[in-house]
Amino acid sequence: MRILVTGGAGFIGSHLIDRLMEAGHEVMCLDNFYTGHKRNILRWLNNPYFELIRHDITEPIRLEADQIYHLACPASPIHYQYNPVKTIKTNVMGTLNMLGLAKRVKARFLLASTSEVYGDPEVHPQIEDYRGNVNPIGIRSCYDEGKRVAETLAFDYHRQNDVDIRVARIFNTYGPRMLEHDGRVVSNFVVQALLGQSLTVYGDGSQTRSFCYVSDLVEGLIRLMNGEHKGPVNLGNPDEYTILELAQAIQNKVNPETALKFEPLPQDDPRRRKPDITRAKTWLSWEPKVPLASGLDLTIQDFRQRLEVENRLLTESAVAL
Ligand code: NAD
Ligand code: UDP
Repeated sequence: MRILVTGGAGFIGSHLIDRLMEAGHEVMCLDNFYTGHKRNILRWLNNPYFELIRHDITEPIRLEADQIYHLACPASPIHYQYNPVKTIKTNVMGTLNMLGLAKRVKARFLLASTSEVYGDPEVHPQIEDYRGNVNPIGIRSCYDEGKRVAETLAFDYHRQNDVDIRVARIFNTYGPRMLEHDGRVVSNFVVQALLGQSLTVYGDGSQTRSFCYVSDLVEGLIRLMNGEHKGPVNLGNPDEYTILELAQAIQNKVNPETALKFEPLPQDDPRRRKPDITRAKTWLSWEPKVPLASGLDLTIQDFRQRLEVENRLLTESAVAL
């Protein structure tokens, strides 16, 4: 098949492209490189069945594809809050353009939505029928409400124009290729521990999250795309941890000597989050396989290698000076 992946140079998108290319598909990666990097897709750049398109999805584009995985959107609070109006444009105008493309070429369209549509949830664990508790005017709204509109657009294009849609609500995902300084909790803690810095726990660390390893998530996306259910479907790991437990797990793995530093909790930070994945289990026969301990090992190994390369380059340039 010919498959378009928007946001394909990013963290999840590049892992998805690896799987699609390995399965023998023709893949187009569309990205504006806001948070994505060529190094994530380097291994495919000379492959004739791979195309890289530098493009901002807020502008229309004409392409031909059988399937569209729509992932383009900054995902970490630091990045989506840096230019909130642009985040909304990406979610609204960008999703509109990609749905228009799907409609024109009759491609199946999968939206990478998010657990953030549930906001600070009053229902726990979160089921897909829960309508959420989102602050429409807070600092997370550009992302949360943006994704809610993106879901609405997907369902309206389906009802009005018969576009064949799939909607995944992705919960916190981690793994190799996360950006070192993107402010997300796993990357922050791992980098801090590797550099011997204190781990920055926001609030008292009693808020919870459920962390899904990226290979599990990608498997879920592919099953959803190729299955018969539109969704929305929660994709995440139901094992729930407090942020303090996560900090301690990373301390123990990297350096038990590192200290914890408590910092203020950001505005509208959800108290608890855990997916109910009954729907994914029933519809897609999917559930995560990688436990947090092994996923963290793989992630730490990747960050360690990247930091070593950075260090070597810094030392070499200092010597050259
Ligand atoms: P990421 O920031 O690594 O990837 C996003 C990609 O989209 C980047 O390559 C970026 O350059 C590109 N992009 C952003 N705006 C664009 C635009 N206007 N035009 C073209 N490209 C653009 O993030 P990620 O973690 O890989 O997330 C991918 C998708 O999954 C996002 O839609 C995100 O909302 C969703 N998601 C991720 C998580 C998670 O925990 N990582 C959780 C829920 C949902
Ligand atoms: N967090 C933290 N220290 C950090 C970064 C994040 O304690 O250095 C907390 C953050 O306040 C939130 C949780 O970890 O409660 C997950 O944050 P992240 O930004 O990774 O994801 P999201 O809040 O979008 O789920």
